[in-house]
Amino acid sequence: MKLKSYAVLAVFTLCAGIQAAPPPPPSVRVYIFDCGNFNLNDPGRYSLKREEMKTTLMSVACFLVAHPKGTLMWDVGVIPDANLVSGMPLTQKLPIGSAYASRSLGSQLSAIGYSPSDITYLALSHFHFDHTANANMFAGATWLVRQKERDLMFADPPDPRATVANFSALKNSKTVIVKDNEHDVFGDGTVILKSAPGHSPDHQILFVKMAKTGPVVISGDLYHYPEELKLDRLPAADFNPEQTVASRKAIDAFIQKRHAQFWIQHDYAANARRKKAPAFYE
Ligand SMILES: [Zn+2]
Repeated sequence: MKLKSYAVLAVFTLCAGIQAAPPPPPSVRVYIFDCGNFNLNDPGRYSLKREEMKTTLMSVACFLVAHPKGTLMWDVGVIPDANLVSGMPLTQKLPIGSAYASRSLGSQLSAIGYSPSDITYLALSHFHFDHTANANMFAGATWLVRQKERDLMFADPPDPRATVANFSALKNSKTVIVKDNEHDVFGDGTVILKSAPGHSPDHQILFVKMAKTGPVVISGDLYHYPEELKLDRLPAADFNPEQTVASRKAIDAFIQKRHAQFWIQHDYAANARRKKAPAFYE
């Protein structure tokens, strides 16, 4: 191609607003996005009393794993970007309590050079409304989902904890049904989806092994509040509480074996301390 053609292409790319995806990182990175928070105002749902807790607020974090071989989005928020008109912070009423977001997921992705079409895989810890708000944005990715979870997402009538409109486009996504207890996303053991049912029928957690940070287990909703872990309390309304107990034991053993850190996604204080995009863990 002649120099002139390059120039024409560059101008076209700029005018069309097409952003080239960032080059693959040399080793695995985890970016955490601020997808807001929510407050159910009812710690009794988690067998906790207000006086036992630092806060009843739950953080909502969204995660991008950038791997040399591709990208994975993990959990995608509580308020859809479309509701954040003109980028204004928004408090949205929930059937119980309220949710808040001040920044769109799309703008945070874009700020580090990614567009939704750059995402190779989408995986959700589970189908609940506070993990799936922007799922439709990633309908072009390959969806890694477990069978019972997918079945429940498209059940008729819908589950009360599902906001189907926010993930309905996944129905036609390229889909891989994850059957194994551990699913090695990129085939090198650094990014693993691990079964941890109970909170929902096919709830899962995410394991990421990074060169500098080391191994990390990202909780999904295996726990919500840090006090659940500290005081050994079980949510009152899990899909199958006995399974939750068994999954907590299995994941605890996995964490010990892998010498992993454990990140509770909804832990408000811990999440506030974690680096947010554009900073990243590697
Ligand atoms: Zn949740």
